[in-house]
Amino acid sequence: MNFKTIIEPFRIKTVEPITMSTQQEREQYLKDAHYNPFLLKSRHVIIDLLTDSGTSAMSSNQWAAMMRGDESYAGARSWKRFEKAVHKLTGMPHILPTHQGRAAERILYTYIGGKGKYFFSNTHFDTTRANIEYSGATAIDLPVQEAHNFQSDYPFKGNLDVVKLQEHISRLGSENIAAVILTVTNNSGGGQPVSMQNAREVSHLCRHNNILFVLDCCRIAENSYFIHKNEPGYQNKTYREIAQEMFSLSDAAVMSAKKDGLVNMGGFLTLRNDELSDACMQLLIITEGFTTYGGLSGRDMEAIAVGLEEVFDPDYLTYRITSTQYLGESILKKGIPIIYPVGGHAVYVDAKKLYSHIPVKQYPGQALVCELYRIGGIRSVEIGSVMFGKYNEQGQLIPAPMELVRLAIPRRVYTQSHIDYVVEVFDEILAAKDRVKGLTITKEPKFLRHFTAHFAPAG
Ligand SMILES: *Cc1c(COP(=O)(O)O)cnc(C)c1O
Repeated sequence: MNFKTIIEPFRIKTVEPITMSTQQEREQYLKDAHYNPFLLKSRHVIIDLLTDSGTSAMSSNQWAAMMRGDESYAGARSWKRFEKAVHKLTGMPHILPTHQGRAAERILYTYIGGKGKYFFSNTHFDTTRANIEYSGATAIDLPVQEAHNFQSDYPFKGNLDVVKLQEHISRLGSENIAAVILTVTNNSGGGQPVSMQNAREVSHLCRHNNILFVLDCCRIAENSYFIHKNEPGYQNKTYREIAQEMFSLSDAAVMSAKKDGLVNMGGFLTLRNDELSDACMQLLIITEGFTTYGGLSGRDMEAIAVGLEEVFDPDYLTYRITSTQYLGESILKKGIPIIYPVGGHAVYVDAKKLYSHIPVKQYPGQALVCELYRIGGIRSVEIGSVMFGKYNEQGQLIPAPMELVRLAIPRRVYTQSHIDYVVEVFDEILAAKDRVKGLTITKEPKFLRHFTAHFAPAG
């Protein structure tokens, strides 16, 4: 039987109330937050699609495991369980526990980065780029051509352009390239998956040129689902086996466990190379903590160990991807331009197309983020020129290639009716479309400005 209604493959054991608000109240909250939803109070949000990071609901098994947490400073049982779970998945000998993904990035990229070094990626995630640039190195995105065509249904738009990578290697010389990072799925590039074939080609090029190949594996279970579904030769492999194969191609991995680790906090760095590991361990001890806990408490490591098992459950993954697709396809049918096909953890709306009357320098993505909140109490995030824009020497904005708004779905948190509500809010978004105005930035920090920038409606 093939029923259309998506049901969550879990029952709810604990509930957290949502506070309702009126549109009038939200207009005031938005003003108080300087039109930046990162500055809103969470109790003023009805449906929080700001991020899927650290927002998962944990299972009863994870909560039970937390009670087993061994908080010994060194050699804790929880560390052993964590190390075993990560090793089983990644196959890598050196595992460094960090408090979240960016700590793993900071340790690895400050060590191998620095002035004159280059990094290449299908698309650098914002914290990845910030850590690389902070070290003085240069981060260059090499997404495939298909990534820019939102209409094509090419199934692996997260792929890295291997031909361009080869050109850059020849031009710069491999000794100037610190690493190639494959982000699976490609978060900033629309949550699009990367094929095994692409990972294999990147791996081959890196090995041939003696360049470090890093997997940013935050959403590797979701990526494995797409490979299983769409890449020939993987239909009889389990999701876990697919993930393991991808790890086997890489030299290192950074993970924010706040995504496919199904926990609220945590991450790790794994490495094959002994010397690199020794150097990173030093930085781990200085900046995170001793090697057998890093930035984590014992109970966190327990929850991650369980989460890394649960996330590969076929019922969970099917529900996860199907419900994200349901949201994307429902709003697409209404005429909302989105990145197609829908990625794993989020729906990305093309705000430049939706608000074609708003110039890029007035941030159409940020305008949509504010509208979603004003109309429906929905919190989302701009992934465009607010997040990635730069200024030239004359102080003019160099815009990002795309002006997107991400509706990220927390794992195991919202039900089908919550998602149906979000779909309904888009009717109003469409109805009010032509009246929406852009925004200007009134205050901004130097790095990761989207988190704390202030905006005002454009005059
Ligand atoms: C979330 C994320 C990170 C950073 O992880 P944090 O846990 O937020 O520090 C890095 N890369 C990608 C692709 C991510 O999605």
